[in-house]
Amino acid sequence: MKFKTLAIHSGHRKDEHYGAVMTPVYQTSTFAFRGVNEPGRFDYSRSGNPTRKALEECLAALEGGSAGFAFATGMAAETTALMLFNSGDTIIVHNDLYGGTYRLFESVFRSKGLCARYVDLRDADALERTLRDGAAAVWIESPTNPLMNLVDLRATAGAAHRHGALVICDNTFLSPYFQRPLEFGVDVVIHSTTKYINGHSDVVGGAIIVKDAGLAERVGFLQNAMGTCAGPQDCFLVLRGIKTLALRMEEHNRSALAIAEWLSDHPKVERVLHPGLPSHPQYQLGLTQMRGYGGTFSFQIRGGQEAAFRTLSGVRVFTLAESLGGVESLIEHPVTMTHASMPPDVRQAMGITPSLIRVSVGLEDVADLIEDLNAALEGA
Ligand SMILES: *Cc1c(COP(=O)(O)O)cnc(C)c1O
Repeated sequence: MKFKTLAIHSGHRKDEHYGAVMTPVYQTSTFAFRGVNEPGRFDYSRSGNPTRKALEECLAALEGGSAGFAFATGMAAETTALMLFNSGDTIIVHNDLYGGTYRLFESVFRSKGLCARYVDLRDADALERTLRDGAAAVWIESPTNPLMNLVDLRATAGAAHRHGALVICDNTFLSPYFQRPLEFGVDVVIHSTTKYINGHSDVVGGAIIVKDAGLAERVGFLQNAMGTCAGPQDCFLVLRGIKTLALRMEEHNRSALAIAEWLSDHPKVERVLHPGLPSHPQYQLGLTQMRGYGGTFSFQIRGGQEAAFRTLSGVRVFTLAESLGGVESLIEHPVTMTHASMPPDVRQAMGITPSLIRVSVGLEDVADLIEDLNAALEGA
């Protein structure tokens, strides 16, 4: 079946829920045994819950995996994935990534003996050299946050596998509607479902999807052993959000591209970082591995931090806030907000400058969004 059909039907079996057409919220911690030494399909909600199961099956279907796992947050999903590794392991990480992931590697896992080595994964030779020193995994984000650089999924997965390393991809920015990393050889897909997958800015959640049965068993074991799973109410809301994922992504994509094109011609804008613009250095690569671009992109404004701050204070429809992927448009300043936890020299080296602004284009009328940005830029 096609994506839109899977989004609405997978994971749900009416006969298991008295014919209910939507999966109910099984707000229960435990389940009665059928008899002594005879558990039913579920026994305890940390190990498994019917609402969570429906979401997990749906996520697996959408990413083309064999198993999905739902977590309390995106960071809980990442933490669980990193517990697949052992003290002394090295993980090669794309040097341009979500600030919270950087913090998890540096401030939580480094002292436990898990060593992240940051490499520009756009440079195949640099990846190859680093892989030769030995690595347990390669961690990809594509497009990256907030610089919107792309990583060649197929080439990176191929190189990593030749050296026996696992490949993990954070697919939060595009959702499986626009990019399905498992099809390019990636082993583990991670999501913050807080973003596009839920899409309504009313839940924090995370997910892991894998294809390999052995990996599925290990992730499932960790989810239960560590207790990082999502609660049933949140799973219900994410499932509801998923039903309109395809429609939302199409509209996010259309509006964001229109705004990016408009900004490209604006005299106060120095550069627009959007992989759907032919001016993007990896525009061609994007066409081969993603079907669209979602609603998030960045731009650099002329006049440095002061001009950026004036723009951020001048918007009325956009909300000044972190996060992305919701129905409402958000605007933020990576240096002082999402990427503030990153050391300034690392940030600067990556190209996250004080003049950089990131937007998450929501589902409002695009004419209102352009008018809002136009007024804010005039005031800058
Ligand atoms: C938000 C985000 C995360 C973290 O997810 P939470 O749900 O906030 O814990 C991880 N990766 C990316 C790319 C994100 O945007």
